[in-house]
Amino acid sequence: MSKRIVSGVRPTGRLHLGNYVGTLKNWVKLQNEEEYECFFFVADWHSLTTGFEHAEQVGCNLFNVFYDLMAIGLDPERSALFLQSAISGHSELFLIYSMITPMGWLERNPTVKEMVRDYDIKEHINYGLIGYPVLQAADITLYKGEYVPIGKDQLPHLELTREIVRRFNHLYGSIFPEPKELLTDFPVLKALDGRRMSKTLGNAIPVVASEQEIWSAVKSAVTDPSRVYRNDPGHPDICNVYHYFEVFFKNEARSMDLQESCIKGAIGCMDCKKKLSALLNGMLLPFYERKQLLMQEPEKVKEMIETCNTKADRIARKTIQEIKEKFGFKVECHESKEN
Ligand code: SF4
Repeated sequence: MSKRIVSGVRPTGRLHLGNYVGTLKNWVKLQNEEEYECFFFVADWHSLTTGFEHAEQVGCNLFNVFYDLMAIGLDPERSALFLQSAISGHSELFLIYSMITPMGWLERNPTVKEMVRDYDIKEHINYGLIGYPVLQAADITLYKGEYVPIGKDQLPHLELTREIVRRFNHLYGSIFPEPKELLTDFPVLKALDGRRMSKTLGNAIPVVASEQEIWSAVKSAVTDPSRVYRNDPGHPDICNVYHYFEVFFKNEARSMDLQESCIKGAIGCMDCKKKLSALLNGMLLPFYERKQLLMQEPEKVKEMIETCNTKADRIARKTIQEIKEKFGFKVECHESKEN
């Protein structure tokens, strides 16, 4: 019997290369392994935790996220690829878990502090942001997910999910498996300006991008600031462009003697960037081409997503029904004792 995997991605704009290297590439790999049954969702409810004032922007972007996911190799016929908000069970289970999760468990979450800093929302931390790990617990367990592909930095979140599951099972009887981590050794890819890659910071390279978009991201890369003139000696170890060669194109860097040429000042940064841009374009071109084809058949794509929504919803409803039966929440016609 295959092991069930559940994971989601927030639709905060176009998917970028950092998303791909860090998470999505691994999704495609897991999808293609026989031992797993994959449930991957677009976490639109989650995007409201920090973007509730611009909900309509999230809505506009949803279909595009599905195009991108399919363009990079996720196949709705192999993985359930669905929309979180289309399945009412996510918000129902979130509500139920909210009742049994002590505030103290949530207040110790370091990621909330980081999000408050990154999104500059100190004055208005809303209940949804504090409670997003509870929604994550609901997302995973609604499908009785057994494994969650995560990096080491996300282990505390998964532990919180397990704590909630243990509490639920202790209170009401065992319904949910405790999900285990499927540790993935993916690197965090920084942007070409050396900062965290983010659409908000304007430094993201879309994973499905035209040649022109790739070039406009690469040409503004921050390189070695001590290189003023073309033949100034460079320091590749502090250059973001060189870092990308190291991550993606080691062989190419070796065959063009990039490190040595840079140190000797024998190659200009603009030429180096052009080379990186061309290589990235070659790497990402199949995604771009696949998206162009998908966009010619929007109805077919929509139908595939709806089929996945239906599959996910069937399982979710069963779980919620099981909980309601445990709770005894049903209206039955009893004769009133008062009559
Ligand atoms: S030549 Fe290339 S590696 Fe060297 S500093 Fe310029 S961009 Fe970076």
